[in-house]
Amino acid sequence: MTNPSYVRVIIDRAIHRELDYAVPEGLMNRVGVGSRVRVPFREKSALATVVAVTEQSEAKGIRLIEAVVGEAPILSEQLLELGRWICAYYCCPIETVMRSLLPQVIRRAEVGWKKQLFVQPGRKIDNNELEKLRKRAPRQVELLETILRLEAPTRASQLLRQTSLDNQTLRALVKRGLVELREDAVIRDPHANEQFIATSNLILNQEQTHALKEITHALDSPEKSRRILLHGVTGSGKTEIYLQAIRAALDRGRTAIVLVPEISLTPQTVERFKGRFADVQDAVAVLHSHLSEGERHDEWHKIHSGRARIVIGARSAVFAPLKNLGLIIVDEEHETTYKQEESPRYHARDVAIVRAKIEKCVAVLGSATPSLESYHNAAIGKYQLVTLTQRIDEKQMPLMRVVDLRQERRKEKSATILSEKLRAAIADRLEKREQTILFLNRRGFSTSLLCSNCGEARNCPNCSVALTFHRHPAVAGRLSCHLCGHTAAVPKKCPACGKDALIYAGFGTERVESTVSQIFPKAVVRRMDADSMTRKEAYRETLRDFRTGRIDILVGTQMIAKGLHFPNVTLVGIINADLALHLPDFRAGERTFQLLTQVAGRAGRGETSGEVFVQTYTPFSPSIQFARHHDFSGYFQQELEFRERCDFPPFKHAVLITVRSAHEGRAKLSAETLQRRLKEALPQEFILGDATPAPLEKLQGQFRFHILVRGEAIIRLSRLVRETVDKLPFPEDVIVTIDVDPYQLL
Ligand code: ADP
Ligand code: ZN
Repeated sequence: MTNPSYVRVIIDRAIHRELDYAVPEGLMNRVGVGSRVRVPFREKSALATVVAVTEQSEAKGIRLIEAVVGEAPILSEQLLELGRWICAYYCCPIETVMRSLLPQVIRRAEVGWKKQLFVQPGRKIDNNELEKLRKRAPRQVELLETILRLEAPTRASQLLRQTSLDNQTLRALVKRGLVELREDAVIRDPHANEQFIATSNLILNQEQTHALKEITHALDSPEKSRRILLHGVTGSGKTEIYLQAIRAALDRGRTAIVLVPEISLTPQTVERFKGRFADVQDAVAVLHSHLSEGERHDEWHKIHSGRARIVIGARSAVFAPLKNLGLIIVDEEHETTYKQEESPRYHARDVAIVRAKIEKCVAVLGSATPSLESYHNAAIGKYQLVTLTQRIDEKQMPLMRVVDLRQERRKEKSATILSEKLRAAIADRLEKREQTILFLNRRGFSTSLLCSNCGEARNCPNCSVALTFHRHPAVAGRLSCHLCGHTAAVPKKCPACGKDALIYAGFGTERVESTVSQIFPKAVVRRMDADSMTRKEAYRETLRDFRTGRIDILVGTQMIAKGLHFPNVTLVGIINADLALHLPDFRAGERTFQLLTQVAGRAGRGETSGEVFVQTYTPFSPSIQFARHHDFSGYFQQELEFRERCDFPPFKHAVLITVRSAHEGRAKLSAETLQRRLKEALPQEFILGDATPAPLEKLQGQFRFHILVRGEAIIRLSRLVRETVDKLPFPEDVIVTIDVDPYQLL
């Protein structure tokens, strides 16, 4: 190839346009697609990514690029293509997509490798000189003798710590030429202090063997179906299949990405992967949101340079710059945390599918409760369906008992936290020294403060929700808003009517914890939710204490619902199964079914079989009944019929437009105007809803209006919506967001 004379770039700052620049001769052999460059833009200079190199350009008044940033191109053509797809599908500017494709620390190229000083022996010293020195400077000799005994260059800081000698002593030796210092890059490895015990392949059972064969077959036959939906009940050994499938990919000289929901990216999970590939040095890179900038820089380069061949990470790891990709695994593919709730609003599972297509590799989606979208894709033959029906060692699925809270209520008058049956079951487990998990997807102590006289609740001034009361020390005895963080003191009297009639209503995990502790004073009870897990190590410690049996009862939110594996847990109590069911969201039923099945999957993973108590006021709702009988296909059939009847996904794609402003009237007017324009712009085939107040009308001081559009041809719909929105001159304080395939409908 001749040297590029021109490049087309995307500037980091939002300008919605690609620009051409000329390349000065001196830089020609250093620029390629994916290079980072500094270019003159308007009066300043800006960072940009090269997306094409050409020998000609039609652009007028072309300017020269100023510099190349970093060494090599950092974005492959495939990833660039993926970025363009995201841009078109999710209806967002390419600069925004670029921010997801490349972590900030890489784009800026400001953070480099961590350099450290290493010590090694310098010139030879004879005995004579040594003895003279010993008399004059005994400490220098002490240090020198240690250094002469070193087998390899050692970090200066480490050496000084070990010998308790100081830097001055070292410098003196360097000055005499007896010791040399060398600067070298060290890797910031977040797992450096952990030991990973090497594990080897387990002998697969029949169903697993079949599943693995299908995946390796796909690896070996590039022309056949390359998307596999692995539907395996909880505890059926999906992870073991992933591990062996990755090994198969590595054996073929390929690499692999494993996506897991952030919430299940636990030390336990990482350990399993690091342990299995302990024989390949540096094989596994881990990407998640808690890495420091430096760690992220190092992990990214470890991947980019080809040293790491397996990447395990949350959502954004789908963009990991691996070369020769063979396999992308999306574990718990139904999880909604794969959807990014800020622009670009991509869904990592769907991006994984597209990336697999671009890279010509295999995608495996795994779940015990596949999303309706994926299961439908399997049903119509887009994905290949592989099922695992048995738990490992033929362990029984847990026994699900539904507790009708309406009857409990008649007995107790106030809302039931623990039904008699659940209480008895917990007592029984404590007796047998087995463990219990209690699940409630709501934080705090009580979820609203009501006036029993006038009925007024204490609401957040910025959001249309009630304030939650926390006992937790961080917000000690205050009311707080879970949406915007606003806190308020608890009033003595009702501010509305002045009566001393305030009562706490509704309950969250804090209340469950305290109730359980009262009923079972001898039991060790711990809570695990976003409030109790603010310290970084708290999560790890609690899990460890639970695993080693130091905790009898673990109370928590969805943080404990996923992927955890505790053999001694034989009882799971779902305190209120109705919480998700009554949300104004067409996926409410699906979520409830998934949640019940997943939480139930935490029970009976060891020798003893498990029992699950589902407390509910709607015992006959389909989600609860199908989950109770572990009947995925029955559930799937009826839910699918409902979706088809109502033109919801997976039959139609949805696009949710939110118009918001601190000024209610302007938000409403803008939404209505936009809705009228859409009516003109969209052909009949698309279903356009009215502009309506969002279920969560006010959030963080902003009034919100929704317009929902549905249709099959999603890329076309995205484009039409984008164009219509871009043409309208909205008032400055009105913000319009477009969410394609939305998951957050509130
Ligand atoms: P899933 O990911 O489907 O929930 P896991 O892969 O975590 O299931 O497997 C559940 C448990 O069974 C794990 O402890 C795992 O080590 C074990 N296991 C998986 N496959 C086998 C096998 N073939 N033989 C023995 N134990 C297995
Ligand atoms: Zn609020």
